[in-house]
Amino acid sequence: TNDNLFCALRAAFPEDLDAIAVETTSASGEPLNYSWRDLDRMSARIANLLDSLNIPSGSRVAVQVEKSVEAMALYLATLRAGHVFLPLNTAYQSAEIEYFVTNAEPAVVVCSPANFGWVSKIAFQCGTQSVFTLGDDRSGTLLERAVHCADAHTPAQKSADDMAAILYTSGTTGRSKGAMLSHGNLLSNAVMLKDYWGWKKGDVLIHALPIFHVHGLFVAIHAALLNGSKMIWFAKFEPKAVIAAMARATVFMGVPTLYVRLLAEPGLTKEATRHMRLFISGSAPLLIETFRDWQTRTGHTILERYGMSETIMLVSNPYQADARHGGQDERRGGTVGFPLPGVGVRVQGDDGQALGADEIGHIQVQGPNVFSGYWRMPEKTAQEFTADGWFKTGDVGKIDARGYVTIVGRSKDLIISGGYNVYPAEIEGFINELPGVAESALVGVPHPDFGEVGVAVVIAKAGQQLDAEAIIATLKKQLANFKIPKRCFVVAELPRNTMGKVQKNLLRDQYQGLFK
Ligand code: ATP
Ligand code: MG
Repeated sequence: TNDNLFCALRAAFPEDLDAIAVETTSASGEPLNYSWRDLDRMSARIANLLDSLNIPSGSRVAVQVEKSVEAMALYLATLRAGHVFLPLNTAYQSAEIEYFVTNAEPAVVVCSPANFGWVSKIAFQCGTQSVFTLGDDRSGTLLERAVHCADAHTPAQKSADDMAAILYTSGTTGRSKGAMLSHGNLLSNAVMLKDYWGWKKGDVLIHALPIFHVHGLFVAIHAALLNGSKMIWFAKFEPKAVIAAMARATVFMGVPTLYVRLLAEPGLTKEATRHMRLFISGSAPLLIETFRDWQTRTGHTILERYGMSETIMLVSNPYQADARHGGQDERRGGTVGFPLPGVGVRVQGDDGQALGADEIGHIQVQGPNVFSGYWRMPEKTAQEFTADGWFKTGDVGKIDARGYVTIVGRSKDLIISGGYNVYPAEIEGFINELPGVAESALVGVPHPDFGEVGVAVVIAKAGQQLDAEAIIATLKKQLANFKIPKRCFVVAELPRNTMGKVQKNLLRDQYQGLFK
């Protein structure tokens, strides 16, 4: 047998290869469909092109291109040829690309035609053998070359432990690290999610996420392919077009900001979402208000789940009654649900002691989905695993008596004020419930007396005025003194990265001098 992930994905293609696999619009706005046969042939041609380069099996193929179906075919081709896919955020500029290329030493780099000049310069300096270009309109040297290659290809022989991808983390808390994921990590998680989220024949996925990140690349694409499901594919997120597509689709996956943008559209109604089966959210915390507004407006309950580049998916609210948890089927806003089947999740105190229900501590995980380590960072890898082999997620949270996991923040964002732990998510939850508040972030900054104190950064709802002093005064009536932010700022928006994650490190930098 061959444990190459591509074999499992290919085996799930429907019998009718002429059926539509991906429905999209071209860069110039024309309707454009790809059949399953197209995906098969396109990935075979690119795999044959990679084979023709005579690079060693398991070479890195680094890809920084605009989202397109061809870019997905390049991912499939990389698996098929037995190499390691390394996607890069399209926002990265030369300093970042230099770091990734130097770190990963890819044999092949694929970039946008417009970036060829500077990307190829960096790549060739780092010893990359071939640099191809791929535009979002099928332009570029990758397809020009691949078109001359045969459209059949036998997948490279791989074992479950062989590396399939290096996924660099989002860099929310510091410099990105390359998580090494194997064919077995990816396949086990995809098979389990297909089952847990009730994928069935006839499902159609709206794919509107970037494909350089775990969410859009693995969670979304693997599920659809493994289910033989059509994708309605958006190169860019357009709320009106996504709502229009819901009449022909059943599943949508989004980061919280996408849900907020959809809610801003009057066209988002019960009627518009009537055909949909499931809305999934993740990558960043979903505000309870968004969760409730979505229920009111559409009648659907968003299913929130939690995962990361190093592990793919870990925890999920139930899609239907979960027999492992007494048949509970409630999707609880503000929680991320139950550990997924086969995934171990535990919460540990600062001294490594096991914690009981509702006690807050460090979330640690294990399972067939957990990565083997960070690329070329053996020390960092050793630090992030416990002696008994659990991965330290860096997230802080708790598990309640019913089994629901709640994330209260990242350990790096924890605030220790006068010796007391302040969990940002708890305080943010209170602030977000105040009238006129859209959202907030609490960050710790140095303070001469308390070591650290919380500073609240608050965003008003459109057209509303907020009084920073009044916010603090209200919190004082609700919370213990050590939890009260020492200062509050009302600002226009929170700094976010492309995955919609709030960049608290930037806020800390901005406010760190307040009490010096
Ligand atoms: P870096 O590790 O480089 O700082 P990152 O952790 O943001 O970046 P990712 O792997 O993309 O990089 O994101 C994983 C993190 O996203 C998780 O550790 C968690 O903090 C957060 N996350 C994901 N899903 C959720 C969720 N549903 N609720 C709260 N946080 C979430
Ligand atoms: Mg991380």
